Amino acid sequence: MMDTRSDTSVYVHFPWCARKCPYCDFATVVPSPASAAPGRALDVVADVPHEAYADALVRELELRRDALRGRRLVSVFFGGGTPSLWEPRALGRVLRELLGAFDARVDDVEISAECNPSSLDEARAAGLAEAGVHRISLGVQSLRDEHLRFLGRLHDRAEALRAVRAAQAVVPRVSADLMFGMPGQTSEGLRAEIGELLDEGLDHVSAYALTIEPGTQFGTLHRLGRLRVADEDAYASMYEHAERAFADAGLAHYEVSNYARSGQEARHNLHYWRGGAYLGLGAAAVGMLDEGGRGFRWTNRKDPARYLGAIAEGRLEHEEEETLSAEDRIREALMLGLRTAEGVDLDVLEARVAQPWIRGRERAVARRLDAGDLAREGRRLRVPRERWLRLDGIVADLF
Ligand code: SF4
Repeated sequence: MMDTRSDTSVYVHFPWCARKCPYCDFATVVPSPASAAPGRALDVVADVPHEAYADALVRELELRRDALRGRRLVSVFFGGGTPSLWEPRALGRVLRELLGAFDARVDDVEISAECNPSSLDEARAAGLAEAGVHRISLGVQSLRDEHLRFLGRLHDRAEALRAVRAAQAVVPRVSADLMFGMPGQTSEGLRAEIGELLDEGLDHVSAYALTIEPGTQFGTLHRLGRLRVADEDAYASMYEHAERAFADAGLAHYEVSNYARSGQEARHNLHYWRGGAYLGLGAAAVGMLDEGGRGFRWTNRKDPARYLGAIAEGRLEHEEEETLSAEDRIREALMLGLRTAEGVDLDVLEARVAQPWIRGRERAVARRLDAGDLAREGRRLRVPRERWLRLDGIVADLF
């Protein structure tokens, strides 16, 4: 019998980190009065409210249960923050409740956890696997100690490689995050780094350019002229070298920042880029559930103490709320879907929003098709890979 329930993924935010990285603008907090020192990330574990946070997530799930009826769970992603600082048993308790709420089996759902090398030793990796996690996404960021120091990371190359191997020993799927665009980095150096990482047998890598965000330590230094970053040409050259290195190793460039061997693409991310619905749980988590063409998006209280307080009193408190019209959803679908190699499935999009996707943008689409910035194959629209470096401008034109 065909399953007619709508596909939904779940994002669980774990907001604590052992130390705040100077470039990071995510909603994270350091649990101890003093940040952890290199090699001592797990020192902060005692200050994390492991069980209280799991209790709150289970309670939030209960409070949102009505909105989940008729939905099928496709993936669960424990992100952060640093979920590898969480006691795996507490994470496992939340996961069991989640699977139960959707009446899902662990083997039918992609279950990922984001981990940092500095807090993923063999015991924690084994604990996560036992809890039901079968995909670990590791924040390696670099295999060069000088870049890791610049990025303010708590791990070094040796610890990164040890964590990759610890994860590979217990879960079938391991991905690494890699950053590029650090001062002094060369395209050839990046290429060599990618080669070394892939020699470890990874099937999935997310490679991001370092961006300077306002409100971060790097943002302040940059504003004061005390931080030099790679220029646009250098970024473009690194991006192209990275693409070649991954292609040589047999990993496809399936999204602007993501590379995978066939079949190893992140289902959770694909669901999101395809405009699918997702439940967000935890402090600062964002969720988007759809109903009749419209979407409702919310952001939970960002401060963990306020989040815990509200949930303990049985209240769902949102920092932000937004109702998405059909047009909003078309824009989002174009913005996210055109970042992928598969592009946007226009039939799926129109079925979801019940209106023609092209209305109001006919001329821009025709112009971009003529220029080769867009390609249309049947009912799919995509940006050819060689134009991905100009993606932002192309997508902005369709708004
Ligand atoms: S570990 Fe990750 S989430 Fe935490 S501060 Fe660093 S970059 Fe941000």
